[in-house]
Formats: sequence, structure tokens, C-alpha cells
Amino acid sequence: MDIEQPRKPGRPATGKTPTRSVRIGGIWDRARAIAEQRNETITDVIERALEDYVMDATTIPPLSDGTRAAVANLVDYEIEREYGNDVAGQIRGAKTLALAGLQFDLLDSGSPVEGVQGVAETTLRILVRDGLAARVCQCRQIHPHGCKHGSAVGSLFCGRHYEADVPAIDGALLCGTCHVAEYETRS
Ligand SMILES: [Zn+2]
Ligand SMILES: [Zn+2]
Repeated sequence: MDIEQPRKPGRPATGKTPTRSVRIGGIWDRARAIAEQRNETITDVIERALEDYVMDATTIPPLSDGTRAAVANLVDYEIEREYGNDVAGQIRGAKTLALAGLQFDLLDSGSPVEGVQGVAETTLRILVRDGLAARVCQCRQIHPHGCKHGSAVGSLFCGRHYEADVPAIDGALLCGTCHVAEYETRS
């Protein structure tokens, strides 16, 4: 019997994204099965894989001070957003500045004018990803087998795990949750 599965709403058709057609064997079905379990679409999976591929092949141009500052702001705001603050406006602003700066930096370093906007977008994603990675809570330096602080402090959930603006403990820059819990065990 054929049971109609309720379909998740897909992305709204903007009329801008073309439909592609590819020939792929069994890996497609395996990937789709995993994606379904994770509540993602196969399009999400492919897009992410393609993005990683393009990111790997992208060289970061020398950055101007203005671009560097805009990217640093953007990373700060992204972390604030992870903590639940409403910084959508600031993120948009920093992103616009960073993209404009990056386009100049790219053109300065000899990037062709055509497609420079797309290259700037990919470059910005790499810079933000690396910027966030550099700010991840360093709890594992103190607890190599993993962080148990989240449950130790009850309601404070150490989920997002980015370093907070707090002094280092044993040389490790911790997120707010880990810092509070660690500080309390030691005092
Ligand atoms: Zn921790
Ligand atoms: Zn932490």
C-alpha cells in the first residue's frame, strides 16, 4: 500500500534558483536516508558539501583593516546571537560592511571582477567559520574527557560553548557556563 507521507514545506520558489539534474548511484539513497533521520533535505546536504568544496578551493586575500574589523564584529554578533540576543540588525550591518570590504580586497589582489560578489560571500563564510572556531570554549584543556559543566549548574546550559568575556582559568578561556561552574568548584 502506498501511504502518502506529509511533505515538509520546501524552500519557497524564488524563481532564481535553477533546478539541476545529475546522475548519481546508491550513495544518493544512503545520504537521503541519513538526511531524513536528521530532518534535513538532500538539498541541504548537497549544498553544504558543495560549499565545503568551494571553501577548500578559496584563497583568502590580504584583508584591509576595515574588512578585518567588520569580520571581527560579525563574529562577535554571531556569538551574541548564539546566546539568544537579538542582534539581527547588527549582523546585517556588519555583513554588508564585510562583504563590501572583501570585494575591494579581492579586486586589489587581482581577483576578476566577474563573480567577485560570490567569491566575497564564500570568503566571508570561511572567515566567520574560522573566527567562531577560534572562540570556542577551551573547557577541554582542563577536562580532556569532555565538559560536564552544563549539568553541574542546572539551568545554565553549556550548549553553544563560546568563550565569554571572563578571565582565563588555568590558561583556558571558557564559556560563561563553564567559567561559573569551574570558579565555584575552586572557591
Ligand atoms: Zn565545561
Ligand atoms: Zn564551555
